[in-house]
Amino acid sequence: MRKPIVAGNWKMNLSLADSRALAAGIVDAVADYSGCEIVVAPSAVSLAGVGEVLADSRVRLAAQNMHWAGGGAYTGELSAQMLADVGASWVILGHSERRQFFGESDEGVNHKTHVALQAGLTPIVCVGETLEEREGERTLQKIELQVRAALAGIRAEDAPRVVIAYEPIWAIGTGKTATAVQAQAIHQAIRKIIAEVFDTSVADALRILYGGSVKPANIAELIAQPDLDGALIGGASLKADSFSAIAKIVDEYTA
Ligand code: PEP
Repeated sequence: MRKPIVAGNWKMNLSLADSRALAAGIVDAVADYSGCEIVVAPSAVSLAGVGEVLADSRVRLAAQNMHWAGGGAYTGELSAQMLADVGASWVILGHSERRQFFGESDEGVNHKTHVALQAGLTPIVCVGETLEEREGERTLQKIELQVRAALAGIRAEDAPRVVIAYEPIWAIGTGKTATAVQAQAIHQAIRKIIAEVFDTSVADALRILYGGSVKPANIAELIAQPDLDGALIGGASLKADSFSAIAKIVDEYTA
């Protein structure tokens, strides 16, 4: 069975003190929700400080990005080992904001996915279509391209450790959520692609998250979809009460 994941992406928000306070609130609120994995991704400068708060808790620490190189002349970047050193065990890769504003390519995301797996980090690889692509009926084409590119060269035995987040770009931070039916259709298509790239046992094991304006009011319908294994949450992850309310619903669904 696939254990669901509730992951919060704090983006470029919160001071170090606010990040630690939010982490402490989440640790308390989700202590009993053992039915799902809980992950938070603070800003890079808050990773170490939040890592201290999460120590000995069931909440895992994620970075929002990383570089593929082990070290060297890459001003402003962080290596997988640097993230691991401060307690991160997960990393978000290829978020649409990184692709859109920082020119991240499918090849770069693939490179990073390889390196994250080698370093023992769990990669959450984001894919998703723009509104224009959806309206032009190119959603599946785009998703297939991104998923196949991200997984190129990954060994079948490592593939179940990859997590894919389907995040329609038009639903991120807009208040618009894909309907549960729309999300399920794409999640099912992604699982079929995984089966083609690897096999059905990998497809059955690999977890696919939904992201895009997830909140306590819409998670129940989403998590009830058979191919949806949790959520990557932006806005609603910035408050312990809304994030933990989502985790509670996912946990109850699993029970
Ligand atoms: C995200 O940035 O990954 C995201 C899904 O944001 P929001 O929940 O705010 O739409």
